[in-house]
Amino acid sequence: MKDLRKTIILCCAIMALALCSCSTNAQTEASSESTGGAEKSAEGVPASCLKELFYAAASVRESAMEEIEERVAEYEEQQKEPAVPTGSTAYGIPEPLDTLTSDNGNLLVLVNKQHAVSADYVPTDMVPVDGSLSTNQGLYFKREAYDAYLRMLEDAKNEGINFMICSTYRSYDTQVSIYHNYVATYGAEWANLRSAYPGRSEHHTGWAVDVTSKSMNYGLSQDFINYPEGQWINDHCSEYGFIVRYLKDKTDITGYAYEPWHLRYVGVEAAQEIMSQGLTLEEYLGKA
Ligand SMILES: [Zn+2]
Repeated sequence: MKDLRKTIILCCAIMALALCSCSTNAQTEASSESTGGAEKSAEGVPASCLKELFYAAASVRESAMEEIEERVAEYEEQQKEPAVPTGSTAYGIPEPLDTLTSDNGNLLVLVNKQHAVSADYVPTDMVPVDGSLSTNQGLYFKREAYDAYLRMLEDAKNEGINFMICSTYRSYDTQVSIYHNYVATYGAEWANLRSAYPGRSEHHTGWAVDVTSKSMNYGLSQDFINYPEGQWINDHCSEYGFIVRYLKDKTDITGYAYEPWHLRYVGVEAAQEIMSQGLTLEEYLGKA
């Protein structure tokens, strides 16, 4: 950044000097035709004219320098990333009890405010999501979860119900951006109920999916449960191995507000037990 700043300032100085020189030459040529017996310098330019030119050039240089300084300050401001957390506790999130650094294939992997995945954790066996089935493009999903999702969608469509994927796997960097935008806009307390601190998001595992529908204008809100699509998903998702991960009235366990749109793939057996008993994944795993 210092090099860029020096280069810009140097360029500015050269441009200002060049402008000064050009102006003087132009003025010299013009003056040589129009001036009569006025006092002239050695080059034939009136001394008063040279003085004015000198001040004009100095003024141009000064204002150009000020403008460049402003631009540099603006640039430096834009380059500032949202504050990257130095520690989760600064945001009211505990230090993790453990941090998983690679995907061991466990489909019951628990990632929440206490159990983390590392920044370079990337799920294995992911496949691209068909763009016609999602509101956002370029998504990847764990193959097993995606296959189950496609079966669920097909059966729903046969009953006249349609929905779209909004989000699946999210990288650490994406989560940094999402989380800090929430914190910057609404504050950490609000954000922590609705968005995961980087490295604590279930989306980072590749096993989670956010679902929306046309009736929801493709948005995500708790109202989803009041629409046929949200109700159908709530009633049937476990048949395909999904659970509604963040249940109503379980915020003290999950750490999040109710999210009828956020599904987590855990396999049919676990999903049916969890959903039929109204459990959270934490309770099912004995880690509540
Ligand atoms: Zn989600």
